[in-house]
Amino acid sequence: MRLLLVLFLVTLSACTEPPASIQQGALASTAYLMVLGIGQDGGAPQAGSHLDPRWTDRDNAHDATSLGLVNPATGQRWMFEATPDFREQWYALDTQAGLREKRVPDGIFLTHAHIGHYTGLMFLGHESVGAQGVPVFTFPKMATFLSENGPWSQLVKYGNILLSPLREDEAVPLADNLSVTPFLVPHRQEFSEVAGYIINGPNKRVGFIPDIDSWEEWDSTGMGLDAFLNAVDLAYLDATFYADGEIAGRDMSGFPHPFLTHTMSRLSESSAQTKAKVVFIHLNHTNPALYPNSPEVQAIQNAGFRVATPGEIVDI
Ligand SMILES: [Zn+2]
Ligand SMILES: [Zn+2]
Repeated sequence: MRLLLVLFLVTLSACTEPPASIQQGALASTAYLMVLGIGQDGGAPQAGSHLDPRWTDRDNAHDATSLGLVNPATGQRWMFEATPDFREQWYALDTQAGLREKRVPDGIFLTHAHIGHYTGLMFLGHESVGAQGVPVFTFPKMATFLSENGPWSQLVKYGNILLSPLREDEAVPLADNLSVTPFLVPHRQEFSEVAGYIINGPNKRVGFIPDIDSWEEWDSTGMGLDAFLNAVDLAYLDATFYADGEIAGRDMSGFPHPFLTHTMSRLSESSAQTKAKVVFIHLNHTNPALYPNSPEVQAIQNAGFRVATPGEIVDI
């Protein structure tokens, strides 16, 4: 009889309670970040790589890099980047945070105009969600790029998105004790500037630099990696390529990204505490560190760093 009662209660709660993934976010009390993707712009597997086993091994497939930010106190949620995988990523964040009537993010922070970082905006247009006034935070050149080139200009014209120009090092307040500070990083500036962000929570500051040409160039033109790591508690950093030679038959010496091995050796003399702040993200489909059981991931961990995990949550 007691067993029957237990079964009844279990069945009842299964019917009336939201799935655990939704409940977890709804019950959280502090603001948090959620990693929504760790891949480079083209994702993994990449278009045209039809022999890549990840077409059927979906556990090892990856969406383009994006972070979600949730403030449980107000129910608001923001995204960093609007990737080609926006649909799935917004679903993951919104169900984690707790479903609500509003169908779109409360704001989107973009870094730059390369395809993995902004093209997901298209889903806010009238062919899809038909959003109204979603704030999109960008530096001025990126705002001009979006407002002067179709199809993005249509999103601006129809008011699906509301461009909110950023100013370097000027924090955007999102709530009490929650703000986002943009800064400029050196990266191929083909259509726009390139932004990095610091997300300032009540307890933690988290940095986000998914794309940068080189740490050395940043040393000479801006804050630089060492000062940056001093200023944050955690930093999601560009790890596009693991090492030279990764793409067979290509001279990679001129590739505009710091190799992951270079970042590790550059920080080899840093304290264990500083190394533990570094989380690698934005991995190209060729990067062996996309495989959690690879020797490369082991080497990264042995050196005191780690690779971001899709779905990981960081209270801030
Ligand atoms: Zn990128
Ligand atoms: Zn880029």
